[in-house]
Amino acid sequence: MKKIVVLGGGGFIGGHLAHRLKNEGHWVRICDIKRHEYWNHEDICHEFIVGDLRNPEVVSLVIDETIDEVYQLAADMGGAGYIFTGDNDANVMHNSALINLNVVHECAKKKVGKVFYSSSACMYPEHNQLDPNNPNCEESSAYPANPDSEYGWEKLFSERLFLAFNRNYGLNVRVARFHNIFGPMGTWIGGKEKAPAAMCRKAAEIDDTSKVLGESKPNHEIEVWGDGQQTRSFLYVDECVEAVLRMMESDFVGPVNIGSEEMVTINQLAEMAIDISNKQIKVKNIAGQDFKDKYGFNCPVGVRGRNSDNKLFKEKIGWEVSQPLRVGMEKTYAWIAKQVEKKKSEQVFIYESPDNGKTVYRREFGKPHSEREIV
Ligand code: NAD
Repeated sequence: MKKIVVLGGGGFIGGHLAHRLKNEGHWVRICDIKRHEYWNHEDICHEFIVGDLRNPEVVSLVIDETIDEVYQLAADMGGAGYIFTGDNDANVMHNSALINLNVVHECAKKKVGKVFYSSSACMYPEHNQLDPNNPNCEESSAYPANPDSEYGWEKLFSERLFLAFNRNYGLNVRVARFHNIFGPMGTWIGGKEKAPAAMCRKAAEIDDTSKVLGESKPNHEIEVWGDGQQTRSFLYVDECVEAVLRMMESDFVGPVNIGSEEMVTINQLAEMAIDISNKQIKVKNIAGQDFKDKYGFNCPVGVRGRNSDNKLFKEKIGWEVSQPLRVGMEKTYAWIAKQVEKKKSEQVFIYESPDNGKTVYRREFGKPHSEREIV
């Protein structure tokens, strides 16, 4: 049994990782600035410390001399509406860099046995991701650096920080670059959710039994930001956790991609969610001036193409992810559809802010976006 700290364990990937580690018989401590919304704490850890990792005193309390491994997943992050509008740049950089500076220093000081750091595919240069059909995300393509977001720049800085502590202080680190991880027990509403969760929710929110009853096609739509031709790949969270644990067992320091190589357009992802929902819904792309008129800011879509390149992971760690996107999407849809039903039965109002607080919209849960009002 190891003594393990999961930082950011109140979040999506951290919660799944802590759950797996606890199930494998390890002693797990989580620190996060918030409690987990979906897991019961006793299912994912032995100790849950609610604390702000920007504060070095908190980090010093959480990482003590008895700890064997630290998984550093805490970061100030969100979906495209949070990362790519530019409005949160200062917070994203300052908050995440402070956390990483504190954590790496404390791990070296307390001589932690092994430390995992989660970087992101957002650190890859924008110029290699302009062609949606041929994005290059080989690890070696990282330099000369040119990420398209400050979030990506902070990740690049912090992966270098962990690697520098490895070289100068012998800290045993593992650095991985996650590519779009998705699954149940994560953010699915409110503006910070990522594309797979957003597509599942939009489809699940629509009441439509026409397909089941064999009726003619109703007029339902779900909105997809941009022209929908931008490509991405998505990795189911259980496979991400498996890859992280295999990397920790290996002696490869990284940085290395952890992602899926099954690339789809965002419209294909939306169509997949619709197909899983068994409803008759059309995809409506919204971009350019139409988007601006509706939301008051430019449509945030990120790079044109991004796909994981798993050659290095296979070569160094000898394992590859295998589950088709559709399988993960089915599990995610089932979970999100349940959350939607729960909310519907509560008859609650949803307050959404895709531009992080500037504009707040209110709508009754289950009602389409077209019926929402600005508050
Ligand atoms: P998440 O937002 O669900 O989890 C991050 C957690 O960090 C949150 O629970 C948040 O409360 C916590 N946190 C933020 N600031 C904190 C602070 N000051 N003190 C303590 N805790 C704080 O995100 P996730 O999807 O689980 O991602 C985990 C890690 O993986 C992040 O570092 C993220 O950048 C990286 N990553 C994720 C993806 C993805 O697709 N989910 C892709 C690339 C990289």
